[in-house]
Formats: sequence, structure tokens, C-alpha cells
Amino acid sequence: MAAVRMDGRALAAKIRAQVAQEVAAFGEPVCLATILVGDDPASHVYVGKKHEASAEAGIDSRDHRFPADTAEGDVLELIEELNADEAVDGILVQLPLPPHMDEPKVTRSVDPAKDVDGFHPLNAGRLFLGEPLHVPATPLGVMALLAEYGVELAGCEAVVIGRSEIVGKPMAMLLLAANATVTICHSRTADLAAHTRRADVLVAAVGRPGLVTPAMVKPGAAVVDVGVTRTESGLVGDVDPAVFEVAGLMTPVPGGVGPMTIAMLLRNTLAAARYRRLGLAVSGS
Ligand code: NAP
Repeated sequence: MAAVRMDGRALAAKIRAQVAQEVAAFGEPVCLATILVGDDPASHVYVGKKHEASAEAGIDSRDHRFPADTAEGDVLELIEELNADEAVDGILVQLPLPPHMDEPKVTRSVDPAKDVDGFHPLNAGRLFLGEPLHVPATPLGVMALLAEYGVELAGCEAVVIGRSEIVGKPMAMLLLAANATVTICHSRTADLAAHTRRADVLVAAVGRPGLVTPAMVKPGAAVVDVGVTRTESGLVGDVDPAVFEVAGLMTPVPGGVGPMTIAMLLRNTLAAARYRRLGLAVSGS
């Protein structure tokens, strides 16, 4: 029997509507500022979608775009202004930055209270300590999908492929916090299939189409495909679509994790407004 499709578009729409209601009830404007440097077409599309989604949820947004040859100091100066601006709740620096910029230096200059991407070391550290403030939106979206489809995480074997700071590591931390037994695999993992075949929950976040084949998946497992690669035939994930015949639940690409990332970014922005203005925590809840 084919896997149940975990519909990220439907759940994201539900979350966005909920955020819109909560923003209206908040009673004060909520504002997200984005910074984009360079002319990477995919980044322009992503930032455009974030602004559309913000507007739909009643979140104001500020769109700062710089040419690729902008000096790092100019971007740092803008971040400093946005950090100090009482009206701005969330700041997002779209990655990748051009090669002449020190990416960690730029992302770490964002005030941790406004760091709706959850990339700042203080936010990463809080997640590690089990006291999350802002958590990266993509792994949060995966957790929301698993919850929506009733996947029992306590005691399960969870395998995450990928160990980036944006997806793999925070994903593993969230699964661990939900009492899963977590294995993190990466490019130096000796026998990837031996790990993935044990997984009740398998999350692939690599960026290599077809990396996960049906033979690597435990029958009935929940398989979440975070990977996105642009090909001539459109966007493809890390998981071979034939895995639908083996898994119990699976996300499609597109229409799985992608829409969830944007929905969780909006939720993070509202959480940042609440946190800063009312002293209320916590995103990720
Ligand atoms: P990344 O920083 O390039 O990390 C990729 C990870 O995959 C690394 O940890 C790498 O291992 C590991 N890896 C590479 N080849 C491997 C292999 N053959 N076997 C096992 N592991 C391997 O990428 P990222 O930023 O985490 O993003 C991962 C994917 O998710 C990309 O396709 C990206 O486009 C997508 N993504 C999607 C969303 C969304 O909203 N849908 C959001 C963010 C990212 P090493 O650490 O050893 O190099």
C-alpha cells in the first residue's frame, strides 16, 4: 500500500490562517525585515514568497535588497539599525550571501531576540539546552508535520541525514527533545543504508536527488524529504519517489516541507513580537 502523503501545503495554510488570527488579536503591528544581497534567482523567489505570506497574515514587512558587490559593512550597518528599531520584530538575512561576505559574522550580528531564523549562537545554544527561543523554521515545520499526522516520536528510532546548522542539527535536537532515539548521518557516514533501514522516522536534508532509495527505508516508516534540488523537470527531493511504495507516511517535493518553512517563519515572527514586547516565550511550541 502506498504511503500517506504528508500534505505540507494544507497544514501550512492552516498555520498561516491561525497566525493571521493571532496577529489581528495582538493589537499592534508585527513587522519582519528581510535582507537579500545579490541576484541569486532562487533567493529572490524565496524572499518574495516570504513577503507575500507576511502580507497575507497581516505582518508588515520591509524588503531590503542590495547588489552583489555591496560592502559587508553596509549590510552590518543596516542590521544595526534594524536591531535598534522598536518597530521591527524579526530580521531575516537570506542565505547564501555573496562569497566576499563572512556569513556567520553577518547572521550573528542580528539581535538574538529578533533572529527569527534561529541561526544566532545564543538561539542554537538555547535549543541545545532544551530552552528554545527562536528555532530554525524548516525543522520546526518538520516537527509540525509529524505531529499533524500523529507520528509517535517518544522511543522511536529517528535518523537525520545531514548535519547543517540550518536543518540537520536543529532537526536532531528537536527530535531528541521529543524523546526519539536520534542518529545523525552525514557525508562521512560509513554505511548510510544500515542506519536508515532502522529508522521509524527518516529525515533527509542533503540536496542530492534520489539519495534515499526504497531499499534504504523500513516498511511503514515516516519519511520526510527536506532536500530541494532544481532540475530541468522541476524541484526534486533527496528521496526517490518510489519510496512512496515502502513508507507509511511521506512528504512530497514540492508541497511538503517547503511551504511549512514559510508558515513557521511567520509563527516565529509573531513569537518574536510577543517575546520582545510582552516578555513571552517561546517559539517552537
Ligand atoms: P548543506 O549545508 O549543504 O548540508 C548538507 C548535509 O548533507 C551535510 O551535512 C552533508 O554532510 C550531508 N551530505 C552530503 N552528501 C551526503 C551523502 N552522500 N550522504 C549523507 N549525507 C550527505 O545543506 P542544508 O542547508 O542543510 O540543506 C539541505 C537540503 O535541504 C538542500 O537541498 C536544501 O535546498 C534543502 N532545504 C530545504 C528547505 C525547505 O524549506 N524545503 C529549507 C532549507 C534547506 P557533511 O556535513 O559531512 O558535509
